[in-house]
Amino acid sequence: MRILVTGGAGFVPSHLCERLLSEGHEVVAIDNFVTGHRRNIAAFAQHPRFSFIEADVTRELPVPGKLDRIYHMASPASPIDYVELPFETLYAGSDATRLGLDRARADGARFLLASTSEVYGDPAIHPQVESYWGNVNPIGVRSVYDEAKRYGEALTMAYHRYHGVATRIVRIFNTYGPRMRPNDGRVMPAFCSQALRGEPLTVFGDGLQTRSFCYVSDLVDGIDRLMESNLTEPCNVGNPHEMTMLQLAEYINRFTGNTAGIIHKPLPKDDPTRRKPDISRASAELGWAPRVSFEDGVSRTVDYFRALGEV
Ligand code: UDP
Repeated sequence: MRILVTGGAGFVPSHLCERLLSEGHEVVAIDNFVTGHRRNIAAFAQHPRFSFIEADVTRELPVPGKLDRIYHMASPASPIDYVELPFETLYAGSDATRLGLDRARADGARFLLASTSEVYGDPAIHPQVESYWGNVNPIGVRSVYDEAKRYGEALTMAYHRYHGVATRIVRIFNTYGPRMRPNDGRVMPAFCSQALRGEPLTVFGDGLQTRSFCYVSDLVDGIDRLMESNLTEPCNVGNPHEMTMLQLAEYINRFTGNTAGIIHKPLPKDDPTRRKPDISRASAELGWAPRVSFEDGVSRTVDYFRALGEV
């Protein structure tokens, strides 16, 4: 198939490009490097079935030829990005979703929206199941991401219902692995970089808030399976292995041999208290389950940051 991946030079989408290439598809990636990086596509940039277009997908999709699949993955995706790039974040979830859906409709392509566990906000239901409508602050600092993705989901369902476009919606939970930006502010690159520099890890608030971390190859497996399934309802993909940020900090310090300990910093506004995916739907409909252990995933991620040398 001929497949478009928006945000192709980003962390998750670059791994998706590699997987789709390994399956024999022709892959076109598009990115404007607002948060993506050329080094993320370096490993397959010369592949004969890969091509790259530098463009801003919130304005245009200048991709020649007919497409069979469109993965709309482009968006800033870290709480620091939402503060620094509010409009890029809003338009990636809204305008770019519309351009992708219009193109899918014109080409008869299947369209997948990369949505997020952030649609659940600071959830009152635990673990989060797809039927939960969420608890989102519509004007808070994270709202540029949360509400754009919620609008993106609404738009995707409208194109499905009214225009008959074949659509899929994946709700991505916290993901980690090689190709994260060391300074993107998210907890995994922050802790790994700090530990490798021998600095104390910055735990926000009391550190009792939880997250559940999925290794990137597991996530990409789930996304690929969802695209090729018949499921038009949103589907959580994430690893239910839940831990507090204090537990994460202790693990990273022990794993890297960092003796600098931790320091506490203020908790960012609207930071969700608990997060863990209910993956019954992905299990039943996609036959999907995460496979990479936390220990292996952290080991590969720390190796990446060490080799990158920017830490
Ligand atoms: N966090 C932390 N120290 C950091 C960065 C993040 O304690 O240096 C916490 C943050 O407050 C949140 C969790 O780690 O509770 C996950 O944050 P991240 O930015 O990775 O993603 P989120 O799940 O909030 O979108």
